[in-house]
Amino acid sequence: MKKIILTGDRPTGRLHIGHYVGSLKSRLMLQEKGDYDDFLVMIADAQALTDNADNPSKIRSNILNVALDYLAVGIDPQKIHIFIQSEVSELTELSFYYANLVTVSRLQRNPTVKSEIKARGFNESIPVGFFTYPISQAADITAFKASIVPVGDDQLPMIEQTREIVKSFNRIYGEVLVLPKEVLPENEACLRLPGIDGNAKMSKSVGNCIYLSDSYEELKTKVMSMYTDPLHLKVEDKGHIEGNTVFTYLDAFATDDDFKNYYPEFANLKELKKAYQQGGIGDVKIKKFLLQILDNLLKPIRERRLYYEEHIDEVYNILKDGTMYARSIARETLKEVKDAMKLNYFDNEELVKEYKDEH
Ligand code: ATP
Ligand code: MG
Repeated sequence: MKKIILTGDRPTGRLHIGHYVGSLKSRLMLQEKGDYDDFLVMIADAQALTDNADNPSKIRSNILNVALDYLAVGIDPQKIHIFIQSEVSELTELSFYYANLVTVSRLQRNPTVKSEIKARGFNESIPVGFFTYPISQAADITAFKASIVPVGDDQLPMIEQTREIVKSFNRIYGEVLVLPKEVLPENEACLRLPGIDGNAKMSKSVGNCIYLSDSYEELKTKVMSMYTDPLHLKVEDKGHIEGNTVFTYLDAFATDDDFKNYYPEFANLKELKKAYQQGGIGDVKIKKFLLQILDNLLKPIRERRLYYEEHIDEVYNILKDGTMYARSIARETLKEVKDAMKLNYFDNEELVKEYKDEH
């Protein structure tokens, strides 16, 4: 079986360090390994509209921002096709057919959609498009016959839904679609990085993010204001690690080399945690350590972003080329899907022949 990788992001804002640890980092690792047949990354503007229908300018203005973020982290357009979802209309058509294979109650059980509905305050007024976006995500994945999808763990219910659609489709219409599998970050803290406010998930829609494009000053302000341990008032107080966002970020980002270089009093995070729990280590000290680590990560990203900001025409052409390529692949799959569903009346005159045979 071919190894085809597909993943994407909604252009609802700039990308943040949650995206980095949750998905971008795996993409970069897969890109460097290079043992794949095809690799596509999608800017999911149509999906972003499902909960932003009244704000098309927001989506439009973030197309280039997300593309810049991709290129800034090191996605290489020679190795990965970057494309825009709405420009591949085959995806919409596939969604329409897949919708017949999914029940309303199945969609209602999706835990990620459930919590997103709550977070967006939709209550009973859930846009149908938003409610059904897991189906459109199945179309995005299967249109390219993707076998591997690198994502954060909030996306697991979407992959599961896709697998169910693939199985139903192949059972009813014949083996056309490929079963995808997720690639999750190995480090547990990276599965769902919390926001700087300590909230369960750093998310563009919540606004609790450290963006990949933040300046040093913005980064510093955010790290210094981060949620830590509300019971740790004085330096000598015993500190708590659980639910302490600074430590979750250290879990996600700190390496032993970082300790050697910037915090040599401790050999590793385990030792620092122990000392913090015993009391005597101030939050400012650990925040400064985290700031150093994050700035080391973001510095080269900022620099590469600057290059592409000054060559925005190049970025535009990368998107255009990637989209043309994606269209050509999705068109082939849609044809296979429709053939399997017997929706191909004008390829030849079989329909008339079948009628004549019957009468
Ligand atoms: P929105 O609030 O608009 O949904 P988002 O911040 O959740 O935006 P998405 O574009 O929905 O970002 O997610 C893109 C990818 O990044 C997905 O694979 C998702 O799992 C991953 N991701 C997003 N936020 C995090 C996070 N805080 N930790 C780990 N992975 C994340
Ligand atoms: Mg999301």
